[in-house]
Amino acid sequence: MKHTDVLVIGAGPAGTVAASIIKGAGYEVEIVEKTQFPRFVIGESLLPRCLEALEEAGFIPALKEKKFQEKWGAKFVLNDAICDFTFNEQHTKGYNYAWQMPRADFDSTLADECVRKGIPVHYLSEVVDIKIDEQGHSITTVQKEDGSTFTVSAKFIVDGSGYGRVIPRLFNLDKPAQLPTRKTIFCHMEDPLRQTVEEPDRIVIYAQGNDCWIWTIPFSNGTTSVGFVALPEYFEQYGSDEDITAKFKKMIAAEPNLRERFKDVVLKFEPRILQGWSATSTTFYGHGFVLTGNVTEFLDPIFSSGVTLATVSAQKAANLVIKHLKGENVDWENDYMRYMEKGVDVFRTYVKSWYTGDLYKIFFADNKDASVKAQICSVLAGYVWDDTNPFVKNHERSVSSLINFLERKN
Ligand code: FAD
Repeated sequence: MKHTDVLVIGAGPAGTVAASIIKGAGYEVEIVEKTQFPRFVIGESLLPRCLEALEEAGFIPALKEKKFQEKWGAKFVLNDAICDFTFNEQHTKGYNYAWQMPRADFDSTLADECVRKGIPVHYLSEVVDIKIDEQGHSITTVQKEDGSTFTVSAKFIVDGSGYGRVIPRLFNLDKPAQLPTRKTIFCHMEDPLRQTVEEPDRIVIYAQGNDCWIWTIPFSNGTTSVGFVALPEYFEQYGSDEDITAKFKKMIAAEPNLRERFKDVVLKFEPRILQGWSATSTTFYGHGFVLTGNVTEFLDPIFSSGVTLATVSAQKAANLVIKHLKGENVDWENDYMRYMEKGVDVFRTYVKSWYTGDLYKIFFADNKDASVKAQICSVLAGYVWDDTNPFVKNHERSVSSLINFLERKN
C-alpha cells in the first residue's frame, strides 16, 4: 500500500493544477491516471482566466516554451454578419490572451511538470474503488493495465477524473444535466489556406442558423481543429455514421465558409463522434474528498469554458484542501460549491441564449455599445466571478434586458 497526504484522480488540467498547488504547500501528493500520456482529449481552446490558475500552479514557463498558438479573442460568424471579440478590450483587468493547442501536448506538459516537482504520476492506473472512514481518510484501489491492483491510503482525495466521473459514479452523486443531448463530429485537418481566410489567433465559430455551429481552432503546428455541434438528428441528413470520413467531408463541402479552405483536405485522423457531454453532480465535495473540473459540472463547448472551469475549480479546491490539512475549518458549501456554481450559472445563461438564438441579437447587432461589448467580452474570457461586471453580476437580467432593448429598437 502507498501512503500519501492527497491522492489526485486524473492527470488532466484539473488534476494537475490541484496536485501542483497542494505539493507547493509542502504536502505529499500522488496522481493516478487511467491512460498513458500523451492521450487525446477534446477541449483545445482556452480562456484567459484559465492562465491565472495555471500561473498559481507554476505551469506558465513550461507552457510558454511549447510555443502554442496564442489566442487573442473569439470571432462569431452568422452568414455575412461578424462579431469579433478581442480580449484586450475586455472590461475585467486580467490576462488578455490564452492558447489554442492539441490537448495531448498541453496535458502532457502539465503532467511532466508535476513529475518535475516531485509528484509521482502513475499512468495506466484506474481507480476502481474507494473506501472512506469516519476521519475522512481513504483507501483507494487502483487497477493496472495487466489487471493487478495496488492500494493508496490518503488523508484527502481530489477527483479530477473528467468524463470518468469516478466519485459521482462510485458514490451515486450523478445528477441529470439540464441541457438537451447534443452531438459533435470533429477532426484535425491540415490547413495551408488558413492565413487567407481568417486570423489564426482566435477561435472562429460559424453559426448555421440555429441548427448547428462549427468551431475552427487553428494550432501553431499548421493543423486546425474543426468540429460540428448540433442535436443528434441534425447529422442524419449527411448519411450514416458508419462512413464517418465521407460524412464529415460532406458537411465541410456544405458549409460555404469552409468549402474552399478545406477542399483538398488532409484529415489527421478518422473524424470522431461524441454525444451527451453535459453532466453534473448532487454535491461537489464530501467527507474526505472534493470534485474538480468536469466532475463538478460540464455544460457545453460553445464558449470554450471547460478547461477554465476545470483549472479554476482545481485552484480553488487545492487552496481549501491545504486549509483542511492544516486543521482549519473549511466552508466547502460557500467557499467552493456556491463559488463554482456561480461561475457555471453565468456561462449557463449565455449557453442557453446561444441555442435559442437570442444571443445572436446581441452578437450580430449593428453599432454595438463598446462598454457592453467589453463586459460580454470578459464573460467570454472566463472572468465570470467579477461582480463589477453587470453581465456577470446580473447575468440573466442584463442579457434579457439588452435583447428586449434591441428588439424594440428594430
Ligand atoms: P479531463 O481533461 O477529461 O481529464 C481527466 C483525466 O482523468 C483523464 O486523463 C482520464 O483518463 C482520467 N481518468 C478518468 N477516469 C479515471 C479513473 N477511473 N482512474 C484514473 N484516472 C481516470 N473546453 C475548453 O476549455 N475549450 C474548448 O474548446 C472545449 N471544447 C470542447 C468540445 C467538446 C465537443 C466537448 C465535449 C468538450 C469541450 N471542452 C472544451 C471541455 C473539455 O473537454 C473539458 O472541460 C476538460 O477536458 C476538463 O478537464 P478535466 O481535467 O476536468 O478532465
